[in-house]
Amino acid sequence: MSSYDVVVIGSGPAGYVAAIRAAQLGLSVACIEKWRTADGRGINGGTCLNVGCIPSKALLDSSHRYHDTREELAVHGISTSAVKIDIAEMMARKDKIVGQLTGGIGQLFKANGVSGLFGTGKLLANRQVEYTDHDGKISVLDAAHVILATGSLPIDIPAAPVDDKLIVDSTGALEIASVPKRLGVIGAGVIGLELGSVWGRLGSDVVLLEALEDFLAIMDKAIARETKKIFTKQGLDIRLGARVVGTQIKGKKVHVTYQSKDGTEQVEIFDKLIVCVGRKPFIDGVLAPDSGVQLDERGTVAVNQQCETSVPGVYAVGDMVRGPMLAHKGSEEGVMVAERIAGHSAQINYDIVPNVIYTHPEVASVGLTEEQVKASGDAYNVGTFPFAASGRALAANDTDGMVKIIAHADSDRILGCHIVGPSAADLVQQVAIAMEFGSSAEDLGMTVFGHPTLSETVHEAALAVNGNAIHKANRKRK
Ligand code: FAD
Ligand code: AMP
Repeated sequence: MSSYDVVVIGSGPAGYVAAIRAAQLGLSVACIEKWRTADGRGINGGTCLNVGCIPSKALLDSSHRYHDTREELAVHGISTSAVKIDIAEMMARKDKIVGQLTGGIGQLFKANGVSGLFGTGKLLANRQVEYTDHDGKISVLDAAHVILATGSLPIDIPAAPVDDKLIVDSTGALEIASVPKRLGVIGAGVIGLELGSVWGRLGSDVVLLEALEDFLAIMDKAIARETKKIFTKQGLDIRLGARVVGTQIKGKKVHVTYQSKDGTEQVEIFDKLIVCVGRKPFIDGVLAPDSGVQLDERGTVAVNQQCETSVPGVYAVGDMVRGPMLAHKGSEEGVMVAERIAGHSAQINYDIVPNVIYTHPEVASVGLTEEQVKASGDAYNVGTFPFAASGRALAANDTDGMVKIIAHADSDRILGCHIVGPSAADLVQQVAIAMEFGSSAEDLGMTVFGHPTLSETVHEAALAVNGNAIHKANRKRK
């Protein structure tokens, strides 16, 4: 029987990062991954690299360039004609990036001495792991520590069963071969908005059907309102309070029935339907009945703040445990667990995990929303700054959106930052760093920002918290 200090099950961003960090710290590590390519090869990287973050961003970037070239260049005095998109080439570029990054994990495993094993892992009792390779050969690995990192899967709903032809999930939406004339998207969450944007930019008429009456319900309301305005202006038809209750395939069309806000049933006809109603933890077949690992009431593996499960020496990280289903959250958990196994005292500040929607403009947030701060009863100040007042945004003809910073009224400590606007993901990260160092809005306001940069919008919003913005009229303070 092979023995390891650490056996990781799953090589998504939570698992492969845990494996590499543990090996860097001198532990003997195996990482088991069951994903196979269409031609049967084992492949690392999980959802993020294969069918998530990376391919979706590749398509978002390609479609943004196409759309920009067609619609936005004239204002700079650049004329274009007969701009075309070759979908097959766009997909091939995406696949090449995926191949490069997934292959890179194998190289990093080698460089760090991680044994990468392709096949399926199952946790048995006493920290033993059953490993079934892709030829069906079964062996048992003995592990001092096990890290479960088996990720998540798209949720499917009986009202819209995925057939991978006319009705696809987020994975199928990354493989659509030609631009659908009319595209339906169920769920106006992060993934629905990103994928809807891709195909909208390429020419589809996109209708997003969202059951909730609030748009981006968990986001800061002012930013969600601004975002909805911008997306609607871009042509996305976002219908709120629209719960899909059934679908019918008729010829080459999907007929979608939904209950609208007023209680009536409506039918829409689409050439393609993407189902993006969320993701669920993937635990099937991962735990033997006597593994001892307990699930919580939501069906995720129950863990504490340190990602320890109910079994000593067994940890779980990433999408299969509580918290936002985000690649960077899982990776940080992987690092934390590896370091704790190696005897370090690592922890994660779960209060400062940035969240991004990679549309254009991007939508990004970190920390508390104004609604959350209000509900806490603490007094607070808010500073905002519109991109329309940023010289750099104007120069780039990219002026939609705003920055909002919320700070505690007494301590001035920054509690949250919410941005819709160009490069929002990178801008919000600046505030995340400031928050991690316990920065006040005044500290950020006293920091020198380069000019002209988009970052100046963050500077001005921080100044605005205390009524000191220079490039906009400040709200009067009591
Ligand atoms: P996964 O990436 O799901 O990896 C789990 C791995 O475990 C898989 O490879 C699976 O094959 C393997 N596995 C499962 N069971 C076994 C077993 N028994 N034996 C061996 N291996 C097993 N997040 C972001 O932060 N930013 C984004 O921009 C972003 N965009 C996204 C876009 C889309 C379209 C989607 C679908 C998701 C996106 N996400 C994004 C979410 C992100 O992909 C996930 O949060 C992340 O992949 C979770 O990482 P993980 O390691 O926990 O799980
Ligand atoms: P997210 O959780 O960000 O992936 O978003 C998924 C979205 O899908 C949520 O906002 C849900 O409200 C929405 N949703 C779930 N089921 C349905 C349904 N039957 N019809 C329309 N929207 C739905």
